[in-house]
Amino acid sequence: MTAALDWQESAVCQSVDPELFFPEKGGSTREAKRVCAGCDARAECLAFALATDGAYTFGVFGGLTARERRQLKPGPGRGGRQRAIRHGTEGGYYAHIRRGEQTCQPCRDAMNEAHRARAERRRRNEQP
Ligand code: SF4
Ligand SMILES: [Zn+2]
Repeated sequence: MTAALDWQESAVCQSVDPELFFPEKGGSTREAKRVCAGCDARAECLAFALATDGAYTFGVFGGLTARERRQLKPGPGRGGRQRAIRHGTEGGYYAHIRRGEQTCQPCRDAMNEAHRARAERRRRNEQP
């Protein structure tokens, strides 16, 4: 195991049925996203999936579907007017990604935290 993939050790999905993350066409990705929401490796996982491009054109990684990941790809017209990144925020994390650069730890932490909080709220709302 290389240092770069240390985050995989905290990957929650290692103990979950992988089928969940690769649903049939039109199938639900809800359960997979729920698993990702509770995963401490989410920010690293998503950055990894985006950096490895072609290998991840389907399936749920880092809590996002392939289509959602494609929307984050750096592309023409994206690099024009750049505002300063607000580090330590979820928006900062996605700004790093859109620029095709490495995410920083404060941004990764904020992104994981924001997602966890949303999942928590959703869970509470679903309770009868
Ligand atoms: S974010 Fe999701 S796909 Fe990525 S390691 Fe965690 S559980 Fe697995
Ligand atoms: Zn940052």
